[in-house]
Parts: sequence; C-alpha cells; structure tokens
Amino acid sequence: MELKEKEKQYILQTYKRLPIEVDHADGVYVYAKDGRKYLDFFGGIAVNALGYDNSRVKSAILNQINRYMHMSNLFYMDVQVDLAELICELSGYAKIFFTNSGTEAVEAAIKVSRKWGSKENKSKLLALTNSFHGRTMGALSLTDRPKYRQGFEPFLPDVEHVEFNDVTDLAAKVDSTTAAVFIEFIQGEGGINVASGRFVEQLFALKQKHGFLVVADEIQTGIYRTGKLFSFEYHGVHPDMVTLAKPLGGSLPLGGLLVDPHLVDVLGYGGHGTTFGGNPVSCAAGLATLQELSERRIASHVSKVGGHLKQRLLEFKSRHPQFVSEVRGLGLMLGVECTVDCSEFVSNLLSNGVLVNCTNGNVIRILPPLVIEEAHADNFMSILEETYDAHVSRFNFKEVTA
Ligand SMILES: *Cc1c(COP(=O)(O)O)cnc(C)c1O
Repeated sequence: MELKEKEKQYILQTYKRLPIEVDHADGVYVYAKDGRKYLDFFGGIAVNALGYDNSRVKSAILNQINRYMHMSNLFYMDVQVDLAELICELSGYAKIFFTNSGTEAVEAAIKVSRKWGSKENKSKLLALTNSFHGRTMGALSLTDRPKYRQGFEPFLPDVEHVEFNDVTDLAAKVDSTTAAVFIEFIQGEGGINVASGRFVEQLFALKQKHGFLVVADEIQTGIYRTGKLFSFEYHGVHPDMVTLAKPLGGSLPLGGLLVDPHLVDVLGYGGHGTTFGGNPVSCAAGLATLQELSERRIASHVSKVGGHLKQRLLEFKSRHPQFVSEVRGLGLMLGVECTVDCSEFVSNLLSNGVLVNCTNGNVIRILPPLVIEEAHADNFMSILEETYDAHVSRFNFKEVTA
C-alpha cells in the first residue's frame, strides 16, 4: 500500500497533510522522497529554532540516550535541573514546572490560577477572542476558535472571552473574582495579531486594581522568536506566569510553566504531576538549544533578518495592494494578510519549493528557523513574487500596476 493510503487507513483523519513524503531534512531545507527540496519557512510550527541538523543538539541527545532515556520525576536528573537553571537565569522567573506539550503547560497554569484564587474566591479565567491555547479541555475552554470548539461543550465553568485589543470590554469583564487573564502578546494561530500597547497597559493597570494573575502564553512567541526571549518584553511588563513549549525541547516534545516567586508554593507536593514531562532526552536537547541560541546572540540576529524580511514583505504589499491587506508581526514571526483565502496560494508556494502555512483562512504565516540568513529571506521573496505572478494570471486578479 502507498504511504498516503496507509496513513488514511490507520490514522484518525484529524490532519490535512501537505502532499510531501519527507525523506530527510538539513539546515533550513526539507527533502522529499521524490527528490524535491523545500526552503522551510514554517519550522515545524515554530519548533525547529536551529533548523534540522544542529550538531550540538544531536550530540547532546545521543549522549543522553546513552546515559538513560527515562527515569520518571521520582529521581533527580541533572539535565532537567540544568535546563531549569538556565531558563530561570535567562528569564528572571523563579521556577519552572516541566510538561510534554504546550497544552499541558496551559493546563498547569490554569491549575495554579484556580488554586491560587481559591482562597479569595477568585475563579474567573479570561482569555481573548481569536486566541489559541491548546486542545485539551481546559486549554480548549480558553481557546476561542469556533472550528476547534464546536461539539466539545460543555467547557470549564467561569471562563469568558474579552474582545482582542478592546480596552472597554476588558475593563467590563475583569473584577475581584478574576483569577487570571491568559494572553498571547502576538496571536499565532489567530493570524499574527499583535496586542496593542494601550491594551497591555490597561491590562496591567487593571491587574494592579483587582489583583488577578496575568499568564503570558509564549508557546509560539517565546525563546527569541520575535527578537526577544519573550514577546511581552516589548511592552516592558512582567506577567506572573509564562507558558512555553514548541522550541523549548530542541525539536523533542517539552513544555514548561515559569512562575514568579509568589506562586512557587501554590501547587505543593502532589498538587500536580506528569509521568513524562521533563523527559531527560528532551531536556538535553532543550539545554543544548538554549545554550546555542543564547551564545549565538540569536535575539539580535532574529531582529535583523526579521526586519529585513518584513521590509521586503511591505514592499511586496505596496506593489500588490489588491492582494495583500496587511503585514504584521515581529522578528521571525510574520503574517501576510491577504484580501482573499490564501490556502491555494500557499499550495502554489509549496509547488515552487517553499513551506509556509495559511492560518485563519487568509493569513500567510511565516515561522522560519531562527538561524536563516538574509539570503534565505531574499530567496523566499523571489519565489513569493514568481508564485504571485503565476497566481495572478491563473486566477485573473486585476493587477494594479504602479
Ligand atoms: C501550539 C500552541 C499551543 C499548544 O501547544 P501544543 O504543544 O500543540 O499542545 C498553545 N498555545 C499557543 C500560543 C500555541 O502556539
């Protein structure tokens, strides 16, 4: 049986897969079994921060595999503690709880928020419209994408959604019963929507007044993706907790919840747990990745290359205003909002050798490995232009020439 048919026969059909049978990947390129080569501007959904074949990460993984692959959290494991130390030192947070995934990091944050609030009758959790926090029932209760929620009701009680960037709606919904507000400072799945300075300022002013927690979901934006360790740093604010995952495990499954000093004792012994969370092989990969990223001063590299790419995308927009309505994002987390559904355009880009993704129907989401160079960005732009030209003639968009 062919791979595609076999997948269809044996795996629950919850993913629309791209028509690529992967053979191998290296650097920032993915190679298919049919010999085709793709420039990867998607990075395994923001996971592969160092691309695909970083030798330091690979040898850290091999070394840990040779020591032990799993022990359980009943033992002291040096790599897990070393990664915790490094992320706490880099971020200024006090402690971390390790999970396997993003959604579990969000679940941990929900549990800390609810338990912390239980003494003062604070149980309400707020999230923003268009948010994405994961697929397990707690995280899904915070997620506001109808296509992911439909049919899964009832959700967690005492959860409400605040209109994104709407300070009036925010002020109306927070009160003394609010335990926590969950926020992606740049929404990923939702279409690269950037929280406004005014909204964030208001959020922290209301936090002062009502005493709720702010939880930053940095699962997609975190670990230098936007040109800083965390995207909230652009606002000069300090959330009480931060959820992490995607790039944290250096391509292996790993998530985490960072907490401030005042929250370190909320869960307590037995208050939460996981069999696999903080797996030592994942931690070894994550530690090597984080060391490599911070030693390479990746933040300024991301700002520079991301700034260049954004500039070129803005030029593309001004040449094709009938196709591109907005270019958004920071660093190497960029979104190109199209005036029409972009899924077909994204398939055409794929045929022309570039991997990107279409999110929220009409936003081309660009999440390349953080190590791409300007030459890769320029290469991406030429393929984008060529694809657009071919697309226009195929679909008969009215070209407005300058
Ligand atoms: C991907 C993502 C999640 C969920 O992470 P999983 O590892 O898929 O469970 C949560 N929040 C944000 C912002 C994400 O991008």
